[in-house]
Amino acid sequence: MLQHDVLIVGSGLAGMRAALEVAQDPTLDVAILTKVHPLRSHSGAAQGGIAASLNNSTDQDSWELHMYDTVKGGDFLVDQNAAEIMTREAPENIFELEHMGCAFSRYDDGRIAQRRFGGHTEPRAVYATDRTGHALLTVLFEQLLKLGVKVYSEWYALDLIVRDGVCQGLVVYDILTGQLETIAARGVMFATGGYGRAFRVTTNSFASTGDGIVLAYRAGIPLQDMEFVQFHPTGLQGSGILLSEAARGEGAHLTNADGERFMERYAAERMELAPRDIIARAEQTEIDEGRGVTDLRDSVFMDLRPIGEERIRYALPAVMHLAKDFAGIDPLKEPVPIQPTAHYSMGGIPCDVDGQVRLKDQEDRPIVGFFAAGECSCVSVHGANRLGTNSLLEAVVFGRRTGRTLRNRVKDLDPTRITEGDMVDAVAEVDRFMTGHGDQKVGAIRADLRDLMMEKCGVFRSQALLDEALGGVKDLQERFTRAAIDDHTTTFNTDLLDALELGHMLEYSELIVVGALTRQESRGGHARVDFPTRDDEHWFKHTLAYRDEDGPRLEYSEVNMQPQYRDPYPPEERKY
Ligand SMILES: Cc1cc2nc3c(=O)[nH]c(=O)nc-3n(C[C@H](O)[C@H](O)[C@H](O)COP(=O)(O)OP(=O)(O)OC[C@H]3O[C@@H](n4cnc5c(N)ncnc54)[C@H](O)[C@@H]3O)c2cc1C
Repeated sequence: MLQHDVLIVGSGLAGMRAALEVAQDPTLDVAILTKVHPLRSHSGAAQGGIAASLNNSTDQDSWELHMYDTVKGGDFLVDQNAAEIMTREAPENIFELEHMGCAFSRYDDGRIAQRRFGGHTEPRAVYATDRTGHALLTVLFEQLLKLGVKVYSEWYALDLIVRDGVCQGLVVYDILTGQLETIAARGVMFATGGYGRAFRVTTNSFASTGDGIVLAYRAGIPLQDMEFVQFHPTGLQGSGILLSEAARGEGAHLTNADGERFMERYAAERMELAPRDIIARAEQTEIDEGRGVTDLRDSVFMDLRPIGEERIRYALPAVMHLAKDFAGIDPLKEPVPIQPTAHYSMGGIPCDVDGQVRLKDQEDRPIVGFFAAGECSCVSVHGANRLGTNSLLEAVVFGRRTGRTLRNRVKDLDPTRITEGDMVDAVAEVDRFMTGHGDQKVGAIRADLRDLMMEKCGVFRSQALLDEALGGVKDLQERFTRAAIDDHTTTFNTDLLDALELGHMLEYSELIVVGALTRQESRGGHARVDFPTRDDEHWFKHTLAYRDEDGPRLEYSEVNMQPQYRDPYPPEERKY
């Protein structure tokens, strides 16, 4: 058995930022465990920027305005105590990252540059051209190397051990050798990222398969607001690869087959800089009503040419190269076909503003020694729809806070104990594929799941579609009981990992669908054609899915309306 004081699963921005904070105390032994090399974590793919009211290109901005935009952007399902903390702490976090060496883009006078992003009233996106995530991730990784933090790179977390409300540690799998191990830790933190891979068209990396949230769910922890999935309006047609919102922030237009800037009809004031849920629905409506472009008529155009060549080359090099490399289109010369693409997971593991995971039951008990931050968590700063650039911010602000909590509290936690018995479930899960036989292929089930979720639980939803989605997920879950893999060797067995990940995807997809079926209203990223308006009287509340013997059981909890330093923003009509 391996042992650490603190074990962090996930080496994206949230996990690394937390580890750095724990490592400030040299008497604490902290390790990170990650299924991909740290620098391949999805955070590194982030393009557009990270929000903070620095006021560098305006003097109108404030954390209050940032908080208001965030609450409104999230269609008022945002927990306002958390949004307040995130927006108030944003500037100091940015300066800290700058001092660590992050090469943010700048104005000629040396100040950090800021640009516009959807749903933000003021230009507050801090960026490193359109490779912001990469810049941040490499800087944090350097800091971890400097401090000598132990990294289990290409190890897979398989099972979370919780006994009597206390987290004991993990069962993990060494991808290189195929060995199962246990790691005991007084403090375990999940920073395992999002769950967008359940959709056919997605911006998410192959690793974004919701492992962490399902491990937590299986350990008896509820998952919150799973039905809220963000569809980003500008994925490359077909693949869904992201073209950053920074393109629209810099002035790109969206047009339909008639050459019309159709956002005029959906958000006349903000146009292409309305929040993502609104633009994704506008695009889908244009496509559904026959004004789509290309032979397939399944997309609309994003035209970068109004930005001008010089600025595109300087501020959007990645966008330019992605369009060329993956669609063969030169955005300097012609518009790029784009479509809504599954991008961000608003739901996740419920935790408080210090990263402490909570059961959210009557007594709101904590799971002692278990923490979460970043996209896998749901501290609910994004509510029903996240604003662009708020997620990198969430990862660093709450990664840092959770790291501090761990540093301060972990010495008071009792040493944990893992026994041979704790490995039984994980061993059985692996053995099932390594020794078993079956007539179903993992790849085929996964492809069917991703089609199903895209078509029946996508940008627009309805009772009829969701009923089909639920039936479909259950059929796929049944097929999965008969799934087998071809590779039974132990070295770098990606067949096995695919199977384990598919098990997770099938489990949380059911929660997305059940949450969406039950929520009879439209709010943020969840749009029901049969319930087209927001219904605060019945649905101004968070969804919690608990795992019962016979399937998920839904409960609901209140939205936090208690910021500390100002009055809360009451729900209002959301217009742009
Ligand atoms: C293409 C793209 C562009 C984006 N651009 C922006 C942007 O400009 N601004 C913005 O604010 N947000 C952006 N986002 C969102 C933002 O990047 C993410 O929400 C954020 O980076 C998530 O960070 P994280 O630390 O929570 O998780 P991630 O960076 O996703 O890291 C997850 C980690 O968990 C590990 N892991 C997962 N499961 C296991 C397991 N079973 N065992 C071991 N390890 C595991 C992975 O190896 C990985 O290290 C973008 C997202 C995408 C997909």
